[in-house]
Amino acid sequence: MMSGQLLEVRGVTKNFGGVQALTGVDLSVGRGEVVGVIGPNGAGKSTLFSVICGIKPTSGSILFKGVDITGNAACDICHCGIARTFQLTKPFLQLSVRDNVASAFLFGRGGQKVSGLREAREEAMGVLREVKLDHRGGALASDLLFAERRRLELARAVATGPELLLLDEAMAGLSTGEAQEMLEILAGLRQKYGITLLVIEHIMKVVMAICQKIVVLNYGSKLAEGTPEEVARHKEVVAAYLGDEGA
Ligand code: ADP
Ligand code: MG
Repeated sequence: MMSGQLLEVRGVTKNFGGVQALTGVDLSVGRGEVVGVIGPNGAGKSTLFSVICGIKPTSGSILFKGVDITGNAACDICHCGIARTFQLTKPFLQLSVRDNVASAFLFGRGGQKVSGLREAREEAMGVLREVKLDHRGGALASDLLFAERRRLELARAVATGPELLLLDEAMAGLSTGEAQEMLEILAGLRQKYGITLLVIEHIMKVVMAICQKIVVLNYGSKLAEGTPEEVARHKEVVAAYLGDEGA
């Protein structure tokens, strides 16, 4: 079936043994959109990202640009134009910041376009400039501060050349100032590369500010979907999740 959507998640269910992490989840993301995924801990948000990135669902399918990519290998997912960041970042600690990004670049879609490590390192420095981390390019990843490590995680994802970027709690643990800086970096990346974003985010102010559409997961099911205003008014969402913040 043809569709104008960049990403379509269709009826995805994912069981881990006895745990039903996702139940019949549908979701679509249009090109250029910023879509938010919210929900309490254990709701299935990160599992949704994993299924989009090639973990086989128990049932259902993932379409990217109309092509079924369900269960594809990580390198195929990456080369078709999807990248994700993880809640817990795992850079190569004994590599420099620059070479962490260069290796992501070589793994990704730009990898075939360059002829060697020197060029990959130049590309890496370009991405590091975008995330305001170029001044740390020569440092070991293990020497980065927490907020810098989050930006390295972002740079590694961006370096693979994604059209769709999945961010799993990219703001978690950041101070208000650092989160603000992250928002500016994301705005810059969207402007420069036209990247579409699907974001899991706990800070409601951030979600409300940057997302055109929000999907609410609860116990693995979609509880609500709509504009930030619609979701904030949704009675069950307010009761189940937003609490006083949504009022
Ligand atoms: P969220 O990101 O919304 O906090 P998760 O997607 O991480 O939620 O988890 C959803 C549910 O699936 C939880 O009950 C979690 O314990 C379970 N789960 C996630 N990953 C696995 C796994 N690899 N094996 C077993 N259970 C898992
Ligand atoms: Mg999670």
